[in-house]
Amino acid sequence: MTRIGFIGVGTMGLPMAKNLLKKGFAVTAFDANPEAVTAAAAAGMAAAASAAECVATADIVITMLPSSPNVESVYTGDGGVLAAARRGTLCVDMSTIDPAVSRRVAAAGKERGVRFIDAPVSGGVPRATDGTLAIMVGGEAADVQEALPALQAMGANVIHVGPVGSGEVAKLCNNLIAGVVGVAVSEAFRIAEGFGVDPKIVTEVISKSSGNTWVMEHMHPVPGLVAKAASSHEYRPGFMTDLMCKDLGLAVDAARALRVPVFVAPAAQQVYRLASSHGLGRKDCTSVYAFLKPSAAEAPV
Ligand code: NAD
Repeated sequence: MTRIGFIGVGTMGLPMAKNLLKKGFAVTAFDANPEAVTAAAAAGMAAAASAAECVATADIVITMLPSSPNVESVYTGDGGVLAAARRGTLCVDMSTIDPAVSRRVAAAGKERGVRFIDAPVSGGVPRATDGTLAIMVGGEAADVQEALPALQAMGANVIHVGPVGSGEVAKLCNNLIAGVVGVAVSEAFRIAEGFGVDPKIVTEVISKSSGNTWVMEHMHPVPGLVAKAASSHEYRPGFMTDLMCKDLGLAVDAARALRVPVFVAPAAQQVYRLASSHGLGRKDCTSVYAFLKPSAAEAPV
């Protein structure tokens, strides 16, 4: 039986690790938040008291952490994965982070005889729960092949994009689009609402027109139109505003380094940033719709 050490059993990590259990993998879990470890133990996973303990006997290490600094410190910090894992261990980072960090961690791993691939995901909590995530992978073909059974336990579409870091590149491109579209859909429905037009009918029209988008279909920002959407559950994440802000920041930083002109991604990032600074950072990112409400009727136009 393949032994998995899973670090980061939060919003996404927990349902993903549960699917590994379901498919017969032995999972040991660790998280900096003790409540998350308790939830993992309640689901049948072995609980570890540290990252080092979590990976000590693992065949495959999986990490699902918020951002680049978390990943770098969990792998290369004191008592980190690279120091504690056995030589030859395969590490799969499924967080959304800077591709340059994936490459740095992979290089540090190589020096210690530990293999590393990046495998960020798309699909959110519903598809993490159903085990139908899209997973975009960067790494050596043999390592990707070895990780495949575990990845297929969590995802329906596993795509090998290229060398290490390439999965993250694909993910940044996807979230640039999804983040910008999230703001555009919110703006459009605020206008429809202002005219007093039924948002349900507007949704039906757009779903058959050129503005149709996965974001509206699955993550509709207007409450009550899509039962599974976070908006219908008081914007409980889902995908937090702060994480969307981080992902657009990764895209903007990459564009700057590559000298690619970008206009709409930075604008969308600032909308999410403002929503966060107004208390919506840990709500689902579609709460940007709640933030984009009209100003007072007496305001001049
Ligand atoms: P989350 O904050 O709910 O979960 C992350 C977990 O990592 C938390 O439980 C946290 O306590 C733990 N953690 C943080 N630092 C740690 C450390 N040093 N050691 C051990 N544990 C640590 O976030 P999430 O929504 O599960 O997202 C995780 C990653 O997946 C992010 O990179 C995000 O961008 C990406 N992602 C999220 C979604 C989504 O819909 N939520 C979808 C696709 C991708």
